[in-house]
Amino acid sequence: MKHQNIAIFVPHLGCPNQCSFCNQRHISGQQCPVTGEEAARICQEALHQGVGEQAEIAFFGGSFTAIPRQQMLELLTAVQPYIGEGKFSGIRISTRPDGIDEEILQLLQQYRVKAIELGVQSMDDGILQKNHRGHTAAHVKEAVALIRKYPFQLGLQFMPGLDGDTEESMRATALAVAELRPDTVRIYPTIVLEGTELAQRYQAGLYRPLELEQAVRLCADFLLLFEEQGIRVIRTGLHASETVENQRIAGPYHPAFRELCESRILYTKALELLKELDKTKAYHLFCAPQRLSALIGQGGCQRERLLEQGYNIKIKPLPELKGRELSVQEVQRKGSGSRCS
Ligand code: SF4
Repeated sequence: MKHQNIAIFVPHLGCPNQCSFCNQRHISGQQCPVTGEEAARICQEALHQGVGEQAEIAFFGGSFTAIPRQQMLELLTAVQPYIGEGKFSGIRISTRPDGIDEEILQLLQQYRVKAIELGVQSMDDGILQKNHRGHTAAHVKEAVALIRKYPFQLGLQFMPGLDGDTEESMRATALAVAELRPDTVRIYPTIVLEGTELAQRYQAGLYRPLELEQAVRLCADFLLLFEEQGIRVIRTGLHASETVENQRIAGPYHPAFRELCESRILYTKALELLKELDKTKAYHLFCAPQRLSALIGQGGCQRERLLEQGYNIKIKPLPELKGRELSVQEVQRKGSGSRCS
């Protein structure tokens, strides 16, 4: 079942610094801070729209535990009537690693927060510093250890392609994040938004974001790395929204970024499967029906690429295949062909 969040956006308020890539100070200057009343209204509306009981009320956007305490409690109190049977399953929040301590965690537990997501972004202190995160990798480890003393679900977010990142440092961060054994991960390749320091650096030629193809290749690898370790990747790529589309200056943004990563994984798998086969023969390449569009690729591009490589294939769905399973069968002019997977 697809997980649903009732998103309540809490902008920059309370952030002690200004990260190089973040324009929330800019955004929050144009928005009224969300009130308890507004948070309750959003929940009420979601109930009326029939959003399922498994949905969580999600305070996203800023550093929830770093906003003024009174406001944080007002928001948490306002949504309490919407948690429980016939309503929503709990609350999830996102915050900075240095916005976590024992007292905060006890408070969050008391107010039925189920999941905490930490903005890790990088596990390289030089990169964290260069991007003005205002915390270190040690803060991340400390926060994770504290959170693990409680029954919270732990999510970690990371941003490949920050200023100063190299493929090596991004891979090292992915490994370090996996070693922290979070329940979930979100991968947000860095996008240059207007009103940020990164935008100034980009415009001055001092920062080069990842190319889309490079970001897809890296994030596809990271997806596999986390999944192999049983860590669920709940988001890859920024959520498609008008705000992002209007404010983006550069960087590897695509409204279906996750689908591009899935396509890449399937393409690599297909090549592996096909490489032993006789290119003079025709084949059917099968995948699970839900993966058909990812395997074919946007506008049929992956099928084209396979054709260009000399493979005479037709891509078809096969209900008995699951997940990313693929199988291939020779097209026989007469009789049946053999299948391998
Ligand atoms: S901590 Fe989060 S909200 Fe605050 S400036 Fe950095 S990215 Fe923006």
